[in-house]
Amino acid sequence: MTNDGANLYDLPQPQLARALGTIVSPPFRVKQIEEWMYVHGVDSFDAMTNIPKELRAALAEHYRLDFPQVVERTTPSADGSQKYLFTLRDGNRIEAVYMPMGERTSICLSSQAGCAVGCTFCVTGFFGAGRNLTPGEMLGQFFTTQHEHNVPMEMMNVVFMGMGEPLLNFENLVATLDVLYRNIAPKRITVSTSGIIPGIDELAKLPRRPNLAVSVNAPDRRRREEIMPITKKYPLEELIASLKRYPSEKGREITIEYVLLAGYNDSHLDAVALAKLIHGLRVKVNAIPFNEDPNLPPWMKRPKEGSIDRFVDTLVRNGVAVTVRRSKGREIAAACGQLRGQDKRRTKVPG
Ligand code: SAH
Ligand code: SF4
Repeated sequence: MTNDGANLYDLPQPQLARALGTIVSPPFRVKQIEEWMYVHGVDSFDAMTNIPKELRAALAEHYRLDFPQVVERTTPSADGSQKYLFTLRDGNRIEAVYMPMGERTSICLSSQAGCAVGCTFCVTGFFGAGRNLTPGEMLGQFFTTQHEHNVPMEMMNVVFMGMGEPLLNFENLVATLDVLYRNIAPKRITVSTSGIIPGIDELAKLPRRPNLAVSVNAPDRRRREEIMPITKKYPLEELIASLKRYPSEKGREITIEYVLLAGYNDSHLDAVALAKLIHGLRVKVNAIPFNEDPNLPPWMKRPKEGSIDRFVDTLVRNGVAVTVRRSKGREIAAACGQLRGQDKRRTKVPG
């Protein structure tokens, strides 16, 4: 049997229907099973209570329903956010963050078990490349945290801003989005990229698109190359051009993420340069004060509140819409750039 032994959550929907079709005959049964998976996110066949016992047993003989296992949950931080550490079947570790935000709740998902892009300000990048996550591994992060907190689906936002570069795991990302769309509108889902231009162009072709967030992080090519070496492959000017051709949707705008590093990219002139760089694009800027970490270069510092305010003011005066991400979960190391999936610390090599 094809796909025998597979985790059904890893199969894109058409393949799932085919795989189920080899065991389950009436189409309504296939629909019921899909609903248990895609809407309820169950992780055992026995939970499918309207499916006959023998059929559940037959399914369990051939297939798995696997989610990553939670190995640790931090106690919720002052703002209520909570970091989850998961282990995967091959021993890799990943993280997701649950963030209550008043009326809405966001869940931040990882797309890879590490990241090869190597931005110098990011802890995930510091620990280096890891493999792509499967759809089941991404959906598992979502359903596990959603179930544990019992969040109604209509209150949920999903952001792919955890470990990894989602657009370097494109196929699995799309399969995951297709399942999430069963519960959550595309405009409630955001994919954040370091600027993988071919991925942005592919995203543009999808019939249903999530929100796009792009980590720009520097006002010019020289500095972007310095802190985001991927810029050598995908130059800043070409990245901006790819955003210009990205189809705009009613009521939506692209988010430009900008990590603020004290004395490096946070001056009045930098804000003016950023405004100029994105001029003509339908975007809003999300300024993210740098989150410090012992693994990152010691010269990288979080700007003082006054500089953050000045930077924001300059953008606003130059006609740019801007929000500041007062990072959630800083004290539990669950903020942007603090996800490592492991508990290693950089250790000094003697001599
Ligand atoms: N790989 C994707 C998504 C994960 S990173 C991307 O790069 O967009 C999510 C966001 O965290 C990015 O905007 C990134 O610039 C930001 N980030 C990374 N390290 C950070 C740090 N130390 N402090 C603040 N933001 C950081
Ligand atoms: Fe990877 Fe994003 Fe971190 Fe850069 S910022 S290393 S792309 S996770």
